[in-house]
Amino acid sequence: WKGFWDKVKDIRSRWEYGVAGLFSDDPVSEEFFEKLEEHLLAGDVGLELTESLLEDLRSFAKREKVGKASDLKQHFAQEIKDTLQRVPKMGEPLSFDGPLGVILLVGVNGSGKTTTAAKLAASFRKRGETVVLAAADTFRAAAIDQLRIWGERTGTRVIAQSPGSDAAAVVFDALQAVKSVGRGVVVVDTAGRLHTKHNLMEELTKIHRVARREVDPSCIETLLVLDAVTGQNGLVQAETFHAAFPLTGFVLTKFDHTARGGILLSLASRLALPVRYVGLGEKEEDLDSFDVDSFVEGLLS
Ligand code: GDP
Repeated sequence: WKGFWDKVKDIRSRWEYGVAGLFSDDPVSEEFFEKLEEHLLAGDVGLELTESLLEDLRSFAKREKVGKASDLKQHFAQEIKDTLQRVPKMGEPLSFDGPLGVILLVGVNGSGKTTTAAKLAASFRKRGETVVLAAADTFRAAAIDQLRIWGERTGTRVIAQSPGSDAAAVVFDALQAVKSVGRGVVVVDTAGRLHTKHNLMEELTKIHRVARREVDPSCIETLLVLDAVTGQNGLVQAETFHAAFPLTGFVLTKFDHTARGGILLSLASRLALPVRYVGLGEKEEDLDSFDVDSFVEGLLS
């Protein structure tokens, strides 16, 4: 997590809802609440959560007869921490109880699925795990090539078939490859075409069925890869996806490109699913789990 702040050193100045400055020694006023609301909305916290955070803060200020805005800061920080920590496994990197694990990466094209697959492969390999990358985006030849390139770069075995082949069959083969060594993790890069969403959901369901036959269901993770830059649209995307195909968590990519990290809070409060990793760049090492306390402290200091 330290790496996070090293890489995104100026995040506070870029953080559009750099709310820290609002908690000054000035008296708590209507203007303070209005400004805070503006900052939270600009930072992608979303209307619903912004309203609820403000309501709570207002009633705390009234109840405790708080005079200075700075005396509200700690309570506000705690509210944000609670929003995140209420979600089980928030910020925890993946680990599997059984010998075999499957990570299905789903999401729209361009969100960063292939890159995240490579980053996860590198990270599990570093921990000494056997990893196989499954090129289940059989729709785009370029996606298969891309994954192969990542496989070479990270020294990870890639299971792929020709474009247009059955994605579930690719996953089946990848599962056999890890099973043959006894333990390991299959990271599945899936298709993300939106215009044929229905077929995509069928395809994902089939992949999941194949995985469930081979692996304990508690060792199958379905992570939606979301581009943090898309902000509140990401929330809509997440809700739509989750309704069609149950997710177990998120990877928020391109966090290095946005100052609007409020999407993290929206996802936590609306979907109650953990953000497992954040993507902080295009290289294989640019993936971090994230620590709620440091995140909130960084935000408000
Ligand atoms: P896919 O279509 O979902 O598989 O997306 P890709 O993995 O091909 O990524 C799309 C683009 O986003 C590529 O140019 C990646 O290098 C870039 N990308 C992915 N993750 C990150 C990230 O965390 N930070 C930055 N800056 N770029 C990223």
